[in-house]
Amino acid sequence: MKQLGMRTRAIHAGEVIDKDTGAASPNIIPSSTFVLTPEYVEMGFEADAETLGANMPYLYARWGNPTATQLETRIASLENGGAALTFSTGMAAATGLLLHKLRAGDHLVISDVSYVGVAEFVRNNLPRMGVQVTPVDTSHGDEVVAAIKPNTRLIYVETPANPILKLTDIRRMADIAHAHGAQLAVDSTFATPMATRPLELGADFVVHALTKYFCGHGDALGGAVIGTRDEILALRADSGVHLGASLSPFNAWLIMRGIDTLPLRMIAHEQNAFTVARFLERHPVVTRVMYPGLESHPQHNLALRQMANMSGMLTFQTANPKAMARKFAASLEVFHYAVSLGHQRSLLVLLGTDDVNNQSFKLDPEHLARYRTFAGEGVFRVSIGLEDAEDLCADLDHVLRS
Ligand SMILES: *Cc1c(COP(=O)(O)O)cnc(C)c1O
Repeated sequence: MKQLGMRTRAIHAGEVIDKDTGAASPNIIPSSTFVLTPEYVEMGFEADAETLGANMPYLYARWGNPTATQLETRIASLENGGAALTFSTGMAAATGLLLHKLRAGDHLVISDVSYVGVAEFVRNNLPRMGVQVTPVDTSHGDEVVAAIKPNTRLIYVETPANPILKLTDIRRMADIAHAHGAQLAVDSTFATPMATRPLELGADFVVHALTKYFCGHGDALGGAVIGTRDEILALRADSGVHLGASLSPFNAWLIMRGIDTLPLRMIAHEQNAFTVARFLERHPVVTRVMYPGLESHPQHNLALRQMANMSGMLTFQTANPKAMARKFAASLEVFHYAVSLGHQRSLLVLLGTDDVNNQSFKLDPEHLARYRTFAGEGVFRVSIGLEDAEDLCADLDHVLRS
């Protein structure tokens, strides 16, 4: 059968019609344990996910639960992966993959700009466990090649990178990783599979904060890792079971409900973001706008190659960002002044360069200077929602001019 389209898969991939009731919407199955068959008793507890694979019966919800399974099948389909494993948060997905793949003596190469929680975890926790970490500017392929060591096991990148929307060439990273016997993981939270499918470009793993665009409504935390069937089976048996950060069935259901409209939402997010980005570019109080879809983005050509949808994330800069942030927090009427992203509601927050750098990135002077070429003193990170674009522009305008 011909591969179904993305909109169809966003709604139907992984769907299970309830045999007893015919219920068309997914069941939420909250059970933490499952009644075992005599056949399972015969096999014993040795019959784990690695030996039984997809034929593994449900045993205990930390190993897997039927509502999460439907979601995992759908996400794997959208990323064109063999399988997916869900977690309770995006952070748990990232740490679950890193702890599974890296052991004492291994070396990790990671983008020097990544989600702050991931940046803090790799800098503070991994070295304590004997893992060497080299943060590099992954938008400079040569710097990545120079950082590779014989014990480099994994390259971990995020594109577009939170918060400054710097891009990394996934195909280039995959080539570098594989030429040196390493693997590539890509946090594709900002892109979503509607923009970029990293596995098709050679990546070994995709990481998502489902909390963001997949859920899309700001009411559930979740995370996922996607890869080959064998890799994800091994990840489930290790991090899935032992990290214990399993996704709740209710959140799995909410996220599935969100994914139904992901393709349509991404079109609307992109359209609104173009309108707001162009409005801000012309605004007298705004000194810089960063949006991969604009010709002014320093990596616009890479965006055109790698992103079929420019997503709804943009940043802008003004003079005296701290004072402006206070005005936004006090006077915005449509936007919420809040962290997080990818929701139907528009969100905006100031991420001061020194604040972020001192707490998380700890960049050396040369890399901090490169960060400032994207971020200056700090960026207003904006997650453009699904409201009317004119209302979003007017809301920003009345505060910017106040
Ligand atoms: C939010 C985010 C995460 C972490 O996700 P949580 O669900 O908040 O734990 C990881 N990576 C990126 C790019 C994010 O934006």
